Amino acid sequence: MQSGRITLTQFIIEEQRRHAHATGDFSGLLNDIATACKVIGNAVGKGSLAGVLGSHGQTNIQGEEQKKLDVISNEVMLSANGWAGHLAGMASEENEELCPIPGKYPRGKYLLLFDPLDGSSNIDVNISVGTIFSVLRSPRPGKAARLADFLQPGTEQVCAGFALYGPSTMLVLTTGHGVHGFTLDRDIGEFILTHPLMRIPEDTGEFAINASNERFWEPPVRRYVEECLAGKTGPRARDFNMRWVASLVAETYRILMRGGVFMYPKDNKDEAKPGRLRLMYEANPVSFIVEQAGGAATTGRERLMAVLPTELHQRVPFIFGSKHEVDRITGYHADYASGREPEDLASPLFGTRSLFRTQ
Ligand code: MN
Ligand code: MN
Repeated sequence: MQSGRITLTQFIIEEQRRHAHATGDFSGLLNDIATACKVIGNAVGKGSLAGVLGSHGQTNIQGEEQKKLDVISNEVMLSANGWAGHLAGMASEENEELCPIPGKYPRGKYLLLFDPLDGSSNIDVNISVGTIFSVLRSPRPGKAARLADFLQPGTEQVCAGFALYGPSTMLVLTTGHGVHGFTLDRDIGEFILTHPLMRIPEDTGEFAINASNERFWEPPVRRYVEECLAGKTGPRARDFNMRWVASLVAETYRILMRGGVFMYPKDNKDEAKPGRLRLMYEANPVSFIVEQAGGAATTGRERLMAVLPTELHQRVPFIFGSKHEVDRITGYHADYASGREPEDLASPLFGTRSLFRTQ
């Protein structure tokens, strides 16, 4: 090995030594997850050469079209992580029900939740995709996990991370002691620590939101975006840039590297869906990483990781990124809830609330 280079395996073992509560079980689990990510990254990288692009011809529990790579990635995650005895159960975006540990293997003390391939609607156009994971402690270690065991708030996560299959394959993770980024060295097949202690700048001039949903936004989100768009001549007195990749892992990585704010807020498009992103295997793990990197993550109304889950595939409004901007957006939600709003919000742009103002 090249001197001075720290592999993921070495990093995990050294972390384990530093923290008395960590056990070999946990290191083994992280190694299995990393192996699965290498296998998925390899399949993603081969693309059309391996015949893995395109649709699987079915929809998943979320009502989304399943891509071939969604199915392949899910199978890789289940088989790589189920055998070693570290887990009491798994849950995946692609499976409506829990994924039990096969009977021939022992049950362990952790629960693993994952989105096997995030951003997969972008896979056929060769935009970065990734794998997101969240690790919880099972309240009943050694026993087959039940749904209730999984329904813990994000604050209970012991580890979260994501792999990014982009121009380089990366693994970004936190165990609650900062955020560390590893780059896959394809020559030796190892993740190498390249981005220790990643920090999100507290201020930013970039925001990301799907602007085609503008007519469904709530007033606090409209207010924030309007102010950004007004630029130098508006209340913020500075220009902003907009970014939108529509791949959560890619957005998260960009924000980790250079700051920014991402919003998939609550809107009134479909009352049955209070948000777009899934709490347990998208928003919670990303929030843990973002907070550990000095950023903030919220639903607009409460800290995201404080949300008490009621179902496995629950959706939440999700706003995260540079701390000062997220705090500002949270403040706008509080203003709205208490009726404190700037006068210029009482314009026809702002829908029904402006009707009250003119009476
Ligand atoms: Mn996803
Ligand atoms: Mn997915």
